[in-house]
Amino acid sequence: MQFRKACLTTLLSWNGSTNHKLLYYYQHSKVTIPTILIATLTTTSSSLSSMTSIHNYLDRTNQYLQQQNQNQRDTNSPILPTSRAGLDPTDNRFHQPIVYHPNYSFKSWPTNHTFPMSKFYHTAQCLLQKQSHLPRPLVRSNQDFFYPLNVNTIPYNWISKPTGPIDEQFLESFLSSSLTYEQQRIIGFRELCTYPELISRTLLEVSGTILASHLAYSYGVATNVAGGTHHATTSMGRGYTILNDLAICAKYVMDERLNCGLISDVDRVLVIDCDVHQGDGTASFENLFDNDGYGDVDDDGERKGKKEFFTLSIHCESNYPKQKAKSTYDIGLPDDLGDHEYFEILVDSVNLAIEEKRPDFVFYDAGVDVFEHDVLGRLKLTENGIRKRDRWVIERCVSEGIPIVGVIGGGYDKDVTALARRHAIVHEEAAYVWRKYNLWTKAKS
Ligand SMILES: [Zn+2]
Repeated sequence: MQFRKACLTTLLSWNGSTNHKLLYYYQHSKVTIPTILIATLTTTSSSLSSMTSIHNYLDRTNQYLQQQNQNQRDTNSPILPTSRAGLDPTDNRFHQPIVYHPNYSFKSWPTNHTFPMSKFYHTAQCLLQKQSHLPRPLVRSNQDFFYPLNVNTIPYNWISKPTGPIDEQFLESFLSSSLTYEQQRIIGFRELCTYPELISRTLLEVSGTILASHLAYSYGVATNVAGGTHHATTSMGRGYTILNDLAICAKYVMDERLNCGLISDVDRVLVIDCDVHQGDGTASFENLFDNDGYGDVDDDGERKGKKEFFTLSIHCESNYPKQKAKSTYDIGLPDDLGDHEYFEILVDSVNLAIEEKRPDFVFYDAGVDVFEHDVLGRLKLTENGIRKRDRWVIERCVSEGIPIVGVIGGGYDKDVTALARRHAIVHEEAAYVWRKYNLWTKAKS
């Protein structure tokens, strides 16, 4: 079934100092998911450095979301921050909601770069093609993917301080292509950091994980065909990652001021990071809610629950980064570990983290650089080992009713088609769990 424009009503328009925007309400007549399309008429990426006007815009946007949330309380229709809704999950008996955007990859990226920028496109293509272990392509049509808000429409207060977790100056420098040479070198992309396509896809990736968070909250599990940018800290990018989508989204799902109450009662978020590299950047966001007053007393004088962010990193000890950070739980594995030993450690450590921290929401970084022939990783997992890992982690959460967002994380191979096959696994295993637990019948109102 395809979504179509059934009701296109101009709800909000105004002239800002640099922006002229319209906010549209975009609703399908046959299915019940209202979605939001924020159309930008004249904004360019250069005007994005005007943070003041952005913040004005965001205030208005969030007021709108709040109002819509009130209007929708009596329905089963989640509001989604999406630029195009995919296949209605309540009609989808085959796979979980999957977030993707064609601009996750772009063609002007150097083909010999260690970071395989085309892998996002190839992973989506892989999901659209029939594989031998499935009776049909996992995703029937490109129209079935959910598209995130883009560089011109994502609210920046989701990302930058004081409401988001990212340093405002760093974000502004990145958006305006004015990072220093040293900052670009540490990211690993050097002058490529100034490519408009890279800036655009970096924000798409973050808003993709945010959209997947909404979908997982409503339907139990959702995946993003990107994400897992786990080396980035609040004030710098590192190791091929620029904006830490895991930390940004952890704050977003816990902070009802940001998500307008569309996601509620999430007090404890756990990141399960199974990329071969330590999630050092994510670990550095341990105190997401320090010094912003949240968790003290709300507008009605009631005390809010304490918000807590936990990280479990299961990585190869000798891999990057040399200088490790301190996660809530760190499991540093020896080189050349194979499927069997890895799985035993995985089960023990994930069980411990879930039992001790009782998370309300989980982000799962399903990096495939644990693969035995990965260019960068030093472990020895097979594809079957990765498949078993992904299925177990996702089912562990879903079976207990903990919403889980799967992101693809790292993976490095000159053969990008083979790499895409491995990145497809987390989506396929989420779909297995989706079918096993009939999750299309269990949407949260
Ligand atoms: Zn990695």
